[in-house]
This record gives sequence, structure tokens and C-alpha cells, in this order.
Amino acid sequence: MPLSPEILGALRLACGEAQVLTAAEDLIPYGFDGTAALKQLPGAVVFPKTTEQVAACVRLAAAQGVPIVTRGSGTGLSGGSVPIADGLVLCLVQMDRILETDARNLTLRAQAGAVTLKIAEAAAEHDLFYPPDPGSMKISTIGGNVAENSGGLRGLKYGVTRDYVMGLEVVMPNGETVRLGNKCVKDVAGYSMKDLFIGSEGTLGIVTEVLLKLLPRPAARRTMLAIYDRMEDAAETVSAIIAAKIIPCTLEFLDRMTIGCVEDYARIGLPTDCEALLLIETDGHPAAVADEAARMEAIARQHGAREVKAARDEAEALTLAAARRNAFSALARKKPTTILEDVTVPRSELAEMVRFVAATAAKYRLQVGTFGHMGDGNLHPTFLTDERDADEMSRVHQALDAIVAKTLELGGTITGEHGVGLAKKQWLRAQLGDASFALMRQIKQTLDPRGLLNPGKIFD
Ligand SMILES: Cc1cc2nc3c(=O)[nH]c(=O)nc-3n(C[C@H](O)[C@H](O)[C@H](O)COP(=O)(O)OP(=O)(O)OC[C@H]3O[C@@H](n4cnc5c(N)ncnc54)[C@H](O)[C@@H]3O)c2cc1C
Repeated sequence: MPLSPEILGALRLACGEAQVLTAAEDLIPYGFDGTAALKQLPGAVVFPKTTEQVAACVRLAAAQGVPIVTRGSGTGLSGGSVPIADGLVLCLVQMDRILETDARNLTLRAQAGAVTLKIAEAAAEHDLFYPPDPGSMKISTIGGNVAENSGGLRGLKYGVTRDYVMGLEVVMPNGETVRLGNKCVKDVAGYSMKDLFIGSEGTLGIVTEVLLKLLPRPAARRTMLAIYDRMEDAAETVSAIIAAKIIPCTLEFLDRMTIGCVEDYARIGLPTDCEALLLIETDGHPAAVADEAARMEAIARQHGAREVKAARDEAEALTLAAARRNAFSALARKKPTTILEDVTVPRSELAEMVRFVAATAAKYRLQVGTFGHMGDGNLHPTFLTDERDADEMSRVHQALDAIVAKTLELGGTITGEHGVGLAKKQWLRAQLGDASFALMRQIKQTLDPRGLLNPGKIFD
């Protein structure tokens, strides 16, 4: 049912006339996220500027039983911020203020719509470091990062968004605002409620403010590129580095298709005649960095790297990292539809998984570029296809099913960082088992009994 003139009037009164969009042409950009082939027009998009405005919108929607989808920048890759037909989208991008950098406690407080890169830059102004760096960090919001528990290129050593969240302010489905966590390094007063909301994909509450942990900036860094003629050798190198008890900050993988697309796009001189590249980065104390870099270079060579090149300077290191960040965008230029997988396996199973993805692509006659956070066991096989081609799409779906089934067989997970959303929900029960799946639904039912927040995401 379309939103009533009464609720639209009340939303305008609460947030301001210009903060509410309802014209079809204005709604279109908010009808999809970064996930292929999923779209739906909402009834209205509202841009609150304060927590009080978010709470007012939630109370108005709840009174009329209108579903709400919270949205950051819409870069999600599992359909999490795709609207509900005629529902409300609360887009938090105008709640983008960095509220405090506390150098004495090594914390930073920001509104949920603050862009991830701005948070990293605000920390760097105080010579501090916010490590999570998703490939989308120039655009994604910190609220979206928390809702997806996003990872990044430095996840191997520094962990994911969850590891840096000390506190949250959350508007609950009934419009109440709760504050969870604080600046204390230790706090065991009751359940760790903030953790429930991290990775909850906008289904339990709306994050309006975050309190983040910062680290001192590492004193030194070294970046290397290892070049391979066999994909499996790159995978074996990753397993061998981990087995040698070295934890570099970055161990990223690009296959031949991805390298070619990135080089076409960015023209930075990547070798296009190889089968795979590993981007390896270590940081920390200069002596430790030198030692780890030398040991990793030796391991890469022992496992078949035909060449290992060190970045000459900071500028070259940044260019290489940027090339990896551009992998998805570069692949997306190749065909009209890009379907990105996010499977993650124990690192000992990487070579097997890489082989399986290549064999599956060949079996179903599909173009697949694979890249990913290989040090985390997280691969992004990316199908380059065309959603108008029904026969090819059917083969894509068969291949996806096979890859997910293999992932579960190897003890992996259906999503390492992009979330379940709409794209992965058909496989969630298979991964969790009936009892854990039922427990998750009970939590949703308890916190959002009327199913108003992001209905249909994660579960049917
Ligand atoms: C080129 C590219 C590279 C990427 N690289 C990475 C990567 O390296 N690692 C990674 O993990 N992901 C990556 N992603 C995926 C995506 O950027 C992340 O999931 C990101 O955290 C989404 O942030 P967003 O602000 O765009 O959120 P949206 O896409 O707007 O929303 C994502 C989900 O979070 C919910 N949500 C958003 N804000 C809030 C809030 N304030 N409160 C409650 N729920 C909220 C939404 O309802 C939705 O379910 C990449 C995406 C692209 C397009």
C-alpha cells in the first residue's frame, strides 16, 4: 500500500521538507545497491540529520506498520539496502559528522553516515590508525560497515570492523534509543549487547553513532608483488606464510582475468602474462618488517613465484593497493552483469577452492575473475555475465550453487564479509543448522516482533 499523505506530512515535519523524496525519478537511485539484478522502488526516502529525527521516523513508521530499510551509501553486495515496495528508506548519509577524536583514550566517535575514509583520515590527523579498509572505503559509511561487519585489505593482521567497535548508539524498532558500550577497554557488565548489532544488516536496530577504537600508526611498511604462472602456487604460498607463523597485514590475490581488467582500467604496469598475483604487505617495527618481508619473499619463491617485486616507495605501494581496491569495478566493465561471490574457507583449503572455482567456471562455460582477501581465506569469484541471457544466467546459478556447496563441504562460510541480505539467504540454514538458525530468528522476533526493520533480509 502506498505511503499515506499523513505519514509523508509527518515525516516532512520531523525532518524538513527537502529531506523527504517521493518522486519516482528521485527514488530510482535508492532502489538498488551494489548487488546485481536486485531492485525495488521504495515509497519514500528520508534523510535524517540527527538521532532524534531517526527515532521520530521510526515511531511514525511503526505506528502505521510501515517497513523501514536503513541505507548508508548503498555499496552493499548482498542486497541488504534494497528497499521494500512502498516502504520507507532511511538514508543516513547526511549524518556524517566526526564527533570526537580522543587521543588520550585512542577512540573516535562519529555519526553513522560518516564515510569510512574520512574516519581513517581523522584518525591520521592525530597520528592514529583506523585499520578496517574495505575496498569501498572512499564511499561506504561506518554505519554500513558496522551493519555488515565489513572486512578489508588489512583484515588478516588487524581484524574486521567488529574488532574496533567499542560502543554504539542504536534506535530500536519501537523508536527508543539505546547506548551500548563505552570507552573502557574492559567491560563485562551484562551481555555484550553492541556485538548483537554488529553484522545484523539493519534487521535489529538502526545504528546512529559509533565509538571506535584506534591504534598507534605502524612505524614502517613494506609492500611486495609476487607473480605466478600457476594459480595454485599463489594459494599454496598463502597457506605456507600462515603455517610459517607470519601474519602480514595484507595477502591479496588476483587471477589472470582480474589482472587484465585492472590493468585495462588503471594502466599501472601489472604483468598481464601471468596466472596470478599476490599483493603482500607487512607493517610494524622496521626490524620486524624487514625480517618478515625477507622470509615471505623466500616462501613465495619456494612456492613457485617467478618474480617478487618490492614497491620502490610509498607512492608505488599506494598504487598497488589501489589497483587491488579497483578489482571489482574493473571486472564490472567487462560485461553488463557482475555477480560477486564472497565464499570463505579455512586457509589450508585455499588451493583446493581455487582449483574448484576454475573447474566450475570451465564446466559451466562461464567467464569468472577471482580475487580476494586470500590471507583471510576469503575469495570473490566474480561472474561476468548478462542478466538478459536466460541460458547463461541459469548456468551461473548452477555454478554458484556448486561453489557454495563446495565451500560448506570444506568447512567454510557462505559469506566472509558481504552479509546474507537477499543474495545468500537460501543457504543460511544449510550453514547454520536448524537449531542455530532458529536461535537467530528468535533474536529477531524478540527485538523486532512486528518485523519492521529490513524484513525479508537474512531470513524469509
Ligand atoms: C567496489 C566495492 C568494494 C567493496 N569492498 C569490500 C571489502 O573489501 N570488504 C567488505 O567487507 N565489503 C566490501 N564491499 C561491500 C560494501 O561496501 C560494505 O558492505 C559496506 O560496509 C556497505 O556500506 P554502505 O554504507 O554502502 O551500506 P549499505 O549498502 O547502504 O547497507 C548495507 C547494509 O547495512 C545496513 N545499514 C546501513 N547503514 C546502517 C545503519 N546505520 N544502521 C543499521 N543498518 C545499516 C543496510 O540496511 C544494509 O543491510 C565492497 C563494495 C563495493 C561496491
